[in-house]
Amino acid sequence: MTLVDEIRRLRKQKKAILLAHNYQRPEIQDIADYVGDSIGLCRRAMEEKDAKIIIFSAVDFMAESAAILNPDKKVFIPSLGARCPMAHMLPAEDVRLWKKKHPGEPVVLYVNTLAESKAECDVCCTSANAVKVVNSLDADTVIFGPDNNLAWNVQQKTGKKIISIPKDGFCPTHLLFQEEEILFLKEEYPDAVVAVHPECTPEVQSIADFVGSTSQICEYARESSAKKYLIGTEVGIIHRLEKENPDKIFIPAYDGAVCTNMKLNTLKRIYLSLKEERYPVTVPDSVARKARKALERMVAIPK
Ligand code: SF4
Repeated sequence: MTLVDEIRRLRKQKKAILLAHNYQRPEIQDIADYVGDSIGLCRRAMEEKDAKIIIFSAVDFMAESAAILNPDKKVFIPSLGARCPMAHMLPAEDVRLWKKKHPGEPVVLYVNTLAESKAECDVCCTSANAVKVVNSLDADTVIFGPDNNLAWNVQQKTGKKIISIPKDGFCPTHLLFQEEEILFLKEEYPDAVVAVHPECTPEVQSIADFVGSTSQICEYARESSAKKYLIGTEVGIIHRLEKENPDKIFIPAYDGAVCTNMKLNTLKRIYLSLKEERYPVTVPDSVARKARKALERMVAIPK
């Protein structure tokens, strides 16, 4: 029996589902029950009524969100070291300090935060719905974290005053994309359109034809008549784009844009995670209760 067959057998036997982020390795995406971005994964985790186990092939904060939203299911992450560095840039005590500094202002936190920080905010958002979430608030000023670049994007699109916390929150992978390099590639591929993630710098976002979350980039590629695309997000997305659009060409705007944390998950580790039920993701009740409210408020905002 191959590893993939073993995973399928165990998944059935244990009533488990495998959720995978768009940045996962191609061979994981190919066997996952669902592949998507953070909001899609959150929704899917909530919709799964029959599953007893969720294997969450992504990074720590996403698996935590699944555990928070599914207190009746066992959630496992295949690699303990799969941690998002950006999520660790805004600890809960810092959120509390910022709240003290700006009393009364609503706090919106990107899902790329740890559960303790989520528990301190009013509502969560993803890169797909950040603008909608901020617009849904009856406030002209909003505290927003932890990604400065997404905060910039939200400020441009909502016209609201965004207090970006912490001062220098960023995604190390998306910071690798450079404006000059993309302009150079545009000369090389004059018929290509540029689609980037809002975690890229404002300079990179400003020269793009489209800025959106990973799933929004997939939707854009499906619906656009363009045949060639320069993609400014983690290179794992190229697999899904090519699979869904065999007649189109996708070129990474920087082929070294690899999130090493996401790539810690492998088929072997997924197999072991299923077999040995490792590594469990748990969130203390007192934290989970508050964080769940912030996540549920987000999910309740129409798509
Ligand atoms: S791509 Fe960036 S934001 Fe996403 S998990 Fe990796 S480090 Fe975190």
